[in-house]
Amino acid sequence: MIVMKFGGTSVGSTEAIGATAAIVAQKVAEQAKTTRPGVVVVTSAMSGVTNALIDSAQAAALGDETPYREARSSLLVKHQMVCGQLIEDGVERAALGRLFDSRLREFERLCRSIAVLGELTERGMDVVSGMGERLSAPLLAAVLRANGVRAQFIDAGELIITDDTYGSASPLMEQTFARCIDRLLPMVQSGVVPVITGFVAATEKGIPTTLGRGGSDYSGAIIGAALDVDEIQIWTDVDGVLTADPRIVKNARCLEELTYEEVAELAFYGAKVLHPKTVTPAIEKKIPVRVLNTFNPSHPGTRIVESTPNRPLGVKAITAIKDMQMITVAGRGMMGVPGIAARTFGAVARQSANVLMISQSSSEQSICFVVPGKEGPRVVQSLQAEFERELKQHLIENIHSQNEIVIVAVVGTGMKGVPGIAARVFNALGTHNINVIAIAQGASEANISLVVIRAEADKAVQAIHDAFELGIGD
Ligand code: ASP
Ligand code: MG
Repeated sequence: MIVMKFGGTSVGSTEAIGATAAIVAQKVAEQAKTTRPGVVVVTSAMSGVTNALIDSAQAAALGDETPYREARSSLLVKHQMVCGQLIEDGVERAALGRLFDSRLREFERLCRSIAVLGELTERGMDVVSGMGERLSAPLLAAVLRANGVRAQFIDAGELIITDDTYGSASPLMEQTFARCIDRLLPMVQSGVVPVITGFVAATEKGIPTTLGRGGSDYSGAIIGAALDVDEIQIWTDVDGVLTADPRIVKNARCLEELTYEEVAELAFYGAKVLHPKTVTPAIEKKIPVRVLNTFNPSHPGTRIVESTPNRPLGVKAITAIKDMQMITVAGRGMMGVPGIAARTFGAVARQSANVLMISQSSSEQSICFVVPGKEGPRVVQSLQAEFERELKQHLIENIHSQNEIVIVAVVGTGMKGVPGIAARVFNALGTHNINVIAIAQGASEANISLVVIRAEADKAVQAIHDAFELGIGD
């Protein structure tokens, strides 16, 4: 039994949905020959749709009603077109037409009330932003039926139960697993392929929530873990996870295998292959996750498992996360004073800012950390308020921020306990005259991250990629 999750580009056009349907049909046939057959499909919205929905709702809150009106008709056309080209059965077509129409009417009604209120709550946004999957999943199910697959649409609101953190809800795993087993297993066992909306979920009371942008991967992994499937497949538009961004590094290579830990580190530092939470449900049950390309389905992709044979130095991949801001709290008066770090991060947390990296000099005269650039100014203000007294007394000399910096993360589970890796990284950077502003290593030793200025980031990634010969296969 497998879960196949298809991303936005895999369902982004008539051709893509056609390719996706062919892949699913083939997997269904392959699965039929196994001891525990079954295919469960999870899908994203058609590419661009979620953004259009969100933009429309935001514009409506500001009183601009044009975007949602335009989105309603363009989204109708977009979905109808696929339906018209891939589905011949008149009854199916008519039913889908009615469904698109009623969903988009609801979208329009929601946006109209947002415009009237002049306010957009996170809760309201989840209803609007999840609409794309509620259009694409029934469409994909119908296209699969047109291709001879016994497919049935299911709304994940029935399956994935979350808390009420709208915008980025956390699943309540026990209830979610129970629902998935009750609802999906009988279907799968009778040879039906459930086609489930990614990204969306609901609270215990049935109020719609979402799992956060890009969350369909996570949906796929949650459902896969619930059903204890043999593999969770993430179908996307690249061959797999690469050693580095191919736009930066010409000889970037697709990795055959990665560990859960490595992929989580890469996702955390901005590699756009998988939603950062995707592997967490898979880890406990040790379910392999495979990243595959809908537009090159014979490529084996990248398999993500618990452990992999190591490369000699353990480094697997490099990623860079741009548009960051580094904030430094510095002063001689901080030395040995307990509580400064706690107060610093308390002030950061009050702004709900996401800290990506922390480093403190051993002389304790400064703490520096990195947050996304857009969060920087609020964090600095919050710190200035927190340390008002210390600043006046010059115990803290300044709270200073540096814009436009980049975190470069060197990732590999096999770096653990291997000496000389940091030296090789810095050597590579030194040779290219690249200045390292800060460094940090996670206690897990699965990553070394360093901060460089934006202008040197690409050069840094390439230099480290070369130093570890990542372009050369195993
Ligand atoms: N459609 C959602 C988004 O664009 C979820 C996903 O694609 O995974 O964020
Ligand atoms: Mg996506």
